Amino acid sequence: MKMKSLSGSAAFVVCVLLLVTSTGCTTDQQGPVQPTVTPGEESYATVLDTGDLETKLASYPEGTLAAAEEKDLLYLQEEEKLARDVYGVFYEAWGMQVFRNIGNAEQTHMDSVTFLIDRYGLASAENTPAGVFDHPELQDLYDRLVEDGLKSPEDALRAAALVEETDIVDLRDALARTDKADIRYVYENLMRGSENHLRAFVRNLEVQGESYTPMVLTLDEYSDIISTPVRPGGFS
Ligand code: ZN
Ligand code: ZN
Repeated sequence: MKMKSLSGSAAFVVCVLLLVTSTGCTTDQQGPVQPTVTPGEESYATVLDTGDLETKLASYPEGTLAAAEEKDLLYLQEEEKLARDVYGVFYEAWGMQVFRNIGNAEQTHMDSVTFLIDRYGLASAENTPAGVFDHPELQDLYDRLVEDGLKSPEDALRAAALVEETDIVDLRDALARTDKADIRYVYENLMRGSENHLRAFVRNLEVQGESYTPMVLTLDEYSDIISTPVRPGGFS
């Protein structure tokens, strides 16, 4: 069982918290010029306790994975990677803090799935280069999102909201296909994180006088999420 990626992620989670609550991380300021932090930006920077995750998951039985459960883990790991990589491109392009903060959270999301992949001895895509994906549908999605999001900051925020919608639906479907307590714990937290991220991207659009119409979730599902206050946790 590998612990390194999780413990390694703790440092930048602290960094995310610092960025949101104070003046930021002095060692990590050489990005593009920062726009003003928008209201509610603290919402997605809730605490990730990696020690808690490791302890909690270690206490669950491993069980034997069905083929569908293995497939879901590998897919969702790359889907979290996609979110991280897309927001990395958008941060480089537009210098908006929201992409850096949530991009950092996506690394913790990916790490938590990687933890499970390692736990069950599956082949991890942890070290695949940024922007490269084993799943062809995720490669297509990445290419499309980046093309869209490089048109304008508003397009980038819309593309990001679409990423989060997609994550929520895929996590929900994967939850329906597993009864393993450790996997469910991670998926439920990732879903909570994704809902927080969706709220943050939509709020950033609204601050700019733009609105967002859901493309994957139903209008009811979307309204429920947007109207719910930010929930703590979510590895983000
Ligand atoms: Zn995520
Ligand atoms: Zn997210």
